[in-house]
Amino acid sequence: DVNHLPKAGMPMAGWSDPNEPIDLNAQSGNLLINMKAMTTLQKIGRGFREIHRLEPQLIPLTLTSGVTKAALPFVNLYFSSRIIDILSTTREMKTLSLFVALALAINLFLFITSRTLENRYYMSRGLLYNKERGEVIRKLYTLDYEKLESPAFQTLLHKHQEAMDKAGSSLYRLSWMLSHWVSGATTLAFALVLLFPLLKISFKGGETFVESPWFAVALFAAIGVAVGIILIISRKISKEWFRLSEQYMGLDRLYDYYTEMIADYKTGKEIRTYQEQLIIEKDATQQLLYEGIAIQKKIAANSAKSSSLIAIIGAVIGFGIYLFIGLKGLIGLFSIGSLVCYTGSFMQVVQGVTAIANTTGQIPQIIPTLDYYFDILHTESGKQDGTLLPQMDTPVSIEFRNVSFKYPESETYALKNFSIKLENGEKLAVVGRNGSGKTTFIKLLCRLYDPQEGEILLNGVNIREYDDAAYRQLFSVVFQDFSMFSFPLAQNVSVADTYEEARVWACLEEAGIPDDARGMEQQLDTYLYKDVEETGVEISGGEAQKLALARALYKNAPFIVLDEPTAALDPIAEYEIYSKFNRLVGDKTAIYISHRLSSCRFCKHIAVFQQGELVQLGTHEELIRDPSSAYYELWNAQAQYYC
Ligand code: ADP
Repeated sequence: DVNHLPKAGMPMAGWSDPNEPIDLNAQSGNLLINMKAMTTLQKIGRGFREIHRLEPQLIPLTLTSGVTKAALPFVNLYFSSRIIDILSTTREMKTLSLFVALALAINLFLFITSRTLENRYYMSRGLLYNKERGEVIRKLYTLDYEKLESPAFQTLLHKHQEAMDKAGSSLYRLSWMLSHWVSGATTLAFALVLLFPLLKISFKGGETFVESPWFAVALFAAIGVAVGIILIISRKISKEWFRLSEQYMGLDRLYDYYTEMIADYKTGKEIRTYQEQLIIEKDATQQLLYEGIAIQKKIAANSAKSSSLIAIIGAVIGFGIYLFIGLKGLIGLFSIGSLVCYTGSFMQVVQGVTAIANTTGQIPQIIPTLDYYFDILHTESGKQDGTLLPQMDTPVSIEFRNVSFKYPESETYALKNFSIKLENGEKLAVVGRNGSGKTTFIKLLCRLYDPQEGEILLNGVNIREYDDAAYRQLFSVVFQDFSMFSFPLAQNVSVADTYEEARVWACLEEAGIPDDARGMEQQLDTYLYKDVEETGVEISGGEAQKLALARALYKNAPFIVLDEPTAALDPIAEYEIYSKFNRLVGDKTAIYISHRLSSCRFCKHIAVFQQGELVQLGTHEELIRDPSSAYYELWNAQAQYYC
């Protein structure tokens, strides 16, 4: 039941040690959530409140369907015992037919009701699963980039994903648990009602041990001990399962990676040209087959051990109950019909308590998955989001003032004591070796991260004072590692459902890709890539880069940033972009990052980065004058190899 959503070939596994909650605070500032301080009961209570918030119908449906389902066996027990009694005594046809008719009618009613409720319960539980995913997805959309990218959050996300894949999420599991509790508790309640006359007889006393209350006390003590043992076994197995699952988790990730990689046609060319099959097969065989199977065997042995133990305990208790009722029946304390009813009811008690004990024992598995879910939902953006709204049509000047920045969990500065000012309409070229901090400068400018030291000012005001989303509207950016999406072409460019067709074409024209787009069968409605749409087109790296440029132009923001925008273009396409660069950028403020130094000359100033620092700033003529400078070295290195 709970493993409704297994992943092919990989049963179970997937959760980390429940004793080691992830402390996002330790690694990334102010976010957390103190889940550790909450007790297990509080966590479960919080889980149920969340279920109620997301899918209000589920808990009532669990309760009602659990009760009706549990009632059915007792109706049959009750009526069959009465019918047996009539048959073995008076054989009065009128009462007999009444009981048979009543039994059939109630059976039919309960059957239809419980089926209907059960169907609605399953539907509601499915909805809960989707809504739980929806909550996480919504969080991921809105979380700031820095937090999203942080290794601590990524680990948390991975663990949550594993849990979702293996057991269908935390709330889903909790609702599964509730349904078992409800049926168990209802079974107990009905059984107690039917067993009441027996209990009365059992505690009344008599001459023999069979009649004495001690016989009943001994039986109940034995049931109590058995339940305790089942609970302990279930908890122990549950913890062991976790430990093994933790070991399996790494292998599971490897399995996912291999299956995706082998199926992905994009990696197919490397696999074939470098014959990577051999190494993949060796690794996969070694790790997945040998190590993985060893762990899987342990997991299987573990669960086999627990279920056989629980079955043996159930059988022993069953034997005790038969003995208890049988001996009492033998000395004529009750009728044959009652004997049937008591035996059946007692067996239901065993089933009910076993289910409750077994389910409760699984709490240690469920708590960590709940923790992952709430940790994700409660991860707060580490950023201060201001309220100022920048005016799109007023001039923009940007200033970095003594800005220093380290990536989360990095020891070294990606940008160090960096200061620069760009006036409205100014064009700045940025050059420097790989890893010198150019892209980091852009990411800070777009406020994907906040610097640890110094400040960034927009028109003299710290950018933290502005509303984040509104601030980002100021920038059209082509990132070096840009992404295009598996959407229709026009949506990729306009980033909207409704778009101005003529303007999309104009931007494609400016970016140098109109012919390719016109050649596509469905033109602007053509899907990119084949992930979503079978008829999607595969575009080359250069075409994608032109589309990324068209997207930046369509946004028409007052500040344009181009990070290596021609890296994937052929020389002719590159030349075309350069030759119309001034027209493309117009009077916007612009930052242009390029390794092709000669292409930087149409920017007034060139900033030279070296190991996270701004080492030179000036015009090409000024910078080239110093033969010991970084710019001179870069320029000459390039001049030797490029015409
Ligand atoms: P450039 O654009 O000049 O090639 P970057 O700004 O991308 O350089 O990188 C500057 C430094 O920051 C490099 O040492 C790089 O390894 C590091 N870096 C870049 N991105 C990240 C990241 N997301 N996490 C950690 N370090 C990063």
